[in-house]
Parts: sequence; structure tokens; C-alpha cells
Amino acid sequence: MKIAVCPGSFDPVTKGHIDIIKRTANMFDRVIVVVAHNLVKPASCFTAAERVDMLIRSTANIPNVVIDMYDGLIAEYARDHDAVAIVKGLRAVSDFEYEFQQALINKKFNPELETVFVTANAEYMFLSSSIVKQICALNRDISEFVPEEICGDVVKRINCKF
Ligand code: ADP
Repeated sequence: MKIAVCPGSFDPVTKGHIDIIKRTANMFDRVIVVVAHNLVKPASCFTAAERVDMLIRSTANIPNVVIDMYDGLIAEYARDHDAVAIVKGLRAVSDFEYEFQQALINKKFNPELETVFVTANAEYMFLSSSIVKQICALNRDISEFVPEEICGDVVKRINCKF
């Protein structure tokens, strides 16, 4: 059984993330989407538990996907869960440098692990969790950008804040 890990902040999950998760689920027997705590990124809008819950609801119709959270080295998580690959979405050249560095670090900690890059769907090329939060904070409709299952969660949280 080939297992892949899709790590990210998912703060919140977007349709761009779902597109990558679905395509990964078509290539592997099982996909573990891991909500990773990222020390470099600014404070998150949603707690890790909330992000996990939103991912569970947004991927309920994909049978071979499970959701987890982890705050350690993703290469070690992959080894502990018998994953053969980390799958990341690439939107633009600007994603590449960071992702390439991450891939090399992960290889160092787990030489058997491959990093697979999936090109973003042209429709979601511009989409990021932070863009969604900005648009929502400006009171614009975000239903085009996030799964309908979590749209209300984002509107509620951002409206509470702004
Ligand atoms: P973000 O950059 O939106 O905060 P994450 O840190 O949660 O996203 O990213 C997790 C993974 O999903 C990364 O590999 C990132 O490149 C990828 N990703 C994020 N948004 C998109 C998108 N719109 N299309 C394709 N891949 C994406």
C-alpha cells in the first residue's frame, strides 16, 4: 500500500488545497493530510484542532484520505506512518525555492522519502489561505475560494476579529 503525506498549515483549507489532495488521492492508496505547526509562519487564525475539523468536513467525500496533526519533523512523521512520499502543491516559481529547501531537509532526515510536486490548477494559482482571509476581512464573498462545508466557519471567525 502506497501512502502519501500532504502537510500544510491549512489556515483555513482552500479549494486549491482540496484540488491537490484529490489529485494525490488518485495517485496513492492512502493520503494523510497533516496539519503542521509552522514556527516560521505568523500566528494562525484557527487552532490546529479547528483546522483538522474543517479538513475532515471538506474531504468527507474522498474515501482514502485521513486527517491528522503534528508539530515535529514531517520527514519523521512520514517514516513513522510508512509513507513513501510527501506531496506538495506548487503555485509559482516563488513557491519553488522554499519547497525545494524543505524537500532537501526532509531527504536528509529520511533518505527513503520522496517529495512529489503537483502543479497548481490554473484556476487556483492565485489562491492562498492568507488571500482568503484578506478578502473575507474586506467583507467580500469567499464561497468561490473555500469548500462550502467551511465557508461559514471562516466568515464567522474573521467577522469576529474585524
Ligand atoms: P498556504 O500557502 O495557502 O498557507 P499551506 O502552508 O497550507 O498553504 O500549504 C500547504 C501546501 O499546499 C503547500 O504545498 C502549498 O504550496 C500548497 N498550496 C496552497 N495553496 C495552493 C493552491 N491554491 N494550489 C495548489 N497548491 C496549493
